[in-house]
Amino acid sequence: MISLKTLMIRNIARILVVAFCFLPNVLPLPRKKMVAFGGSGPYDHTRITRLALERFAERTGLAVRADCSQMLIHGSVISDSERTAYIEELHCDNNIMRCAKKLHELKHLAIHEPDPPRFYYHAGQALHLVQDFYSHTNWAETFRFTYLLAPIESFKDLPPPEDLQTGVFPDPLQINYEAAFRCLLVPEDKWNRFIPGATHGCLNKDTNRSVRGMRAVQDGFGMTYHELAAEYAIRHSVDLLEHLRSHSIVMNTCLIPDKLSLGCNQSINELLQ
Ligand SMILES: [Zn+2]
Repeated sequence: MISLKTLMIRNIARILVVAFCFLPNVLPLPRKKMVAFGGSGPYDHTRITRLALERFAERTGLAVRADCSQMLIHGSVISDSERTAYIEELHCDNNIMRCAKKLHELKHLAIHEPDPPRFYYHAGQALHLVQDFYSHTNWAETFRFTYLLAPIESFKDLPPPEDLQTGVFPDPLQINYEAAFRCLLVPEDKWNRFIPGATHGCLNKDTNRSVRGMRAVQDGFGMTYHELAAEYAIRHSVDLLEHLRSHSIVMNTCLIPDKLSLGCNQSINELLQ
């Protein structure tokens, strides 16, 4: 029979362990820059863009040449590089409307860009943005296995649905610490609702180690929220690649019939990862 005192000590110890483990994820403590869809993954921007390029080839019958693929993959990662200044809208943090405007701008720049390196730069950043959208907002929690893609650009003109939200990151002055902790206690069936003061740390599904990313989706046969967000990110990236194919001359110079590539593109891409 466990005494009341032992029970209390155990509970306090449990709370301390949970607080210790999750504190760095919730509060903006000074530490190495956080990267979206990075770290322990298993899905990072490199893998998501590579899978999107493969699905694009399956869907269209057109493979993206290996050199172009590498530049697009590189472009999709560069926004999280240590040497790149943090721009909140590139990661869909803090404000969905600004993120929507940035996507519109990047797509416009990419499709009107005749210079290949600059095209890869803009197109890569657009890929990064749409991928981060699903990790940093609660869209995946809301639409789950419907795989309904977000009309991200429309949110630049129309206010996003009232329950759609992205997390606060990274300015400590913007953080309401009490609300940040309360966000952690919200049950899964309310994750599709707006949570006042929710931080990036509470909402992000960047890895299978983040607070939300690690949780298994209800009725999802073991799929985690990180993996669900990644699936949305891959699907939206394929749509974006198709948009670039329809509107960009540079993108079209990168395409060869998939059958003629004899699987070489995929092999080279896998080799270079
Ligand atoms: Zn990012």
